[in-house]
Amino acid sequence: APAAPTVALGDRFARTLPEMAVPWQAAGVPEPRLLALDDDLAAELGLDAAALRTPAGLGLLTGTAVPEGARPVAQAYAGHQFGYYNPRLGDGRALLLGELTDRAGRLRDLHLKGSGGTPFSRGGDGFAAVGPMLREFVVGRALHALGIPTTRALAVVATGRPVRRETVLPGAVLARVAASHLRVGSAQYARATDDRDLLRRLADEAIDRHHPAAADAPNRYLALYEAVVAAQARLVARWMLVGFVHGVMNTDNVTLSGETIDLGPCAFMEGYDADAWYSSVDQGGRYRYGNQPLVAEWDLARLAEALLPLFAEEQEEAVELAVAALGGFRPAYDAAWLGGWRAKLGLPAGLDDAVATALVTDLLDLLQAGKVDLTSFARRLSSAARGDAEPVRRLVLDLAGIDAWLERWRATGPDAGAMDRVNPVYVPRNHLVEEALAAATAGDLAPFDRLVDVVSRPFEERSGLERYAEPGPAGPYVTFCGT
Ligand code: AMP
Ligand code: MG
Ligand code: MG
Repeated sequence: APAAPTVALGDRFARTLPEMAVPWQAAGVPEPRLLALDDDLAAELGLDAAALRTPAGLGLLTGTAVPEGARPVAQAYAGHQFGYYNPRLGDGRALLLGELTDRAGRLRDLHLKGSGGTPFSRGGDGFAAVGPMLREFVVGRALHALGIPTTRALAVVATGRPVRRETVLPGAVLARVAASHLRVGSAQYARATDDRDLLRRLADEAIDRHHPAAADAPNRYLALYEAVVAAQARLVARWMLVGFVHGVMNTDNVTLSGETIDLGPCAFMEGYDADAWYSSVDQGGRYRYGNQPLVAEWDLARLAEALLPLFAEEQEEAVELAVAALGGFRPAYDAAWLGGWRAKLGLPAGLDDAVATALVTDLLDLLQAGKVDLTSFARRLSSAARGDAEPVRRLVLDLAGIDAWLERWRATGPDAGAMDRVNPVYVPRNHLVEEALAAATAGDLAPFDRLVDVVSRPFEERSGLERYAEPGPAGPYVTFCGT
């Protein structure tokens, strides 16, 4: 194999938490071909994008030629999937290549998905198809451009290996970058071992990497928990503000860092609907749009259970502390949500919270009643602030309702320029994502490249891109995970 580009990959996770790290190697890649690379992210990481495009670079991006000293591992974790506990999930088709220090001095995980079977594969083949890995790439790019904390794709490399799903599909490996891959499910795994020292090391690692202020708190583990609760509350509020439906908020897909992870069955909602969900495996709609804050709270309750032994000597006291800390979720979520909506509506800072809240909830009732496209509506609203309400009126059936609302809203003196800085013109429209992935799967990357470019600059309206600013044809949209 050719030599990999110079990159110092640490083995901090493997050293700190060896009980949760199985040294493992990526499967061979018959015919590596680069499909997508994030040049900006490469630069952020101090990696030479040109070197990543060479055969040696593709070796690194697929885990087939790792640098000297790197020690790839499959990570163990547990998790509640759709409410049911599974004590042993883990990286079934993924590997942590190692940690690297980015240009800003932050530690980042370099991780692979679709890199072959591991001891955690549980009957799965360990591989991934081109389409879903490109979806992670474009959605991660969009979330990042929207300013929403997320894991990000560095690259997608086609493997030349067919993978068997409902049909035979071209295979791919995703190289993903994250603040870390510590999840609620990681804490659940550590807790289930009954090894207090392992649980403590895991919590210390989360404090060190993500919530360092907790280290100075009188009760550092409780402070860690409060910090994760706050980070998740902010994250889910950000999703709600752009109509993002994650799709599979199992506890193994909830990070301790507060980054979005696992962009398999996610979708951007179009017609506003609190009941919207898209994932084919989410039979009851557990992870529907309007449930996301509740589900996050439920997942965080599972984190409290896992960390409980660290909170206090006495179980009873620990439970009380945990309940109080979890109680911080709703106020944190409400504040982030209302603050976000205040910005979306361009409301003046002095406006009373109760007035602002009533404006938002009345607007959402109107959007819900008419299944109005959230992205177009929010973006067009700045025209109404500038005096032309027709662009938003055209989206709403209940004209009397929207006119009355617009009058109340305009009376607050909304700031149109500020609105355009927070309401995106472009989000990855589901039908355009599907179109791009289908073309890419058939060998044509042009629609995908175009879409990535569009969603990378979401706030800046560009001519000729009208199609990207419109919702797709109405009708059921379904996403598939595990493919
Ligand atoms: P996810 O729904 O992507 O969060 O995955 C849940 C679990 O299923 C994780 O443990 C994955 O590693 C595992 N998994 C998903 N797809 C595969 C596959 N094709 N082969 C092996 N494991 C898989
Ligand atoms: Mg996952
Ligand atoms: Mg997945």
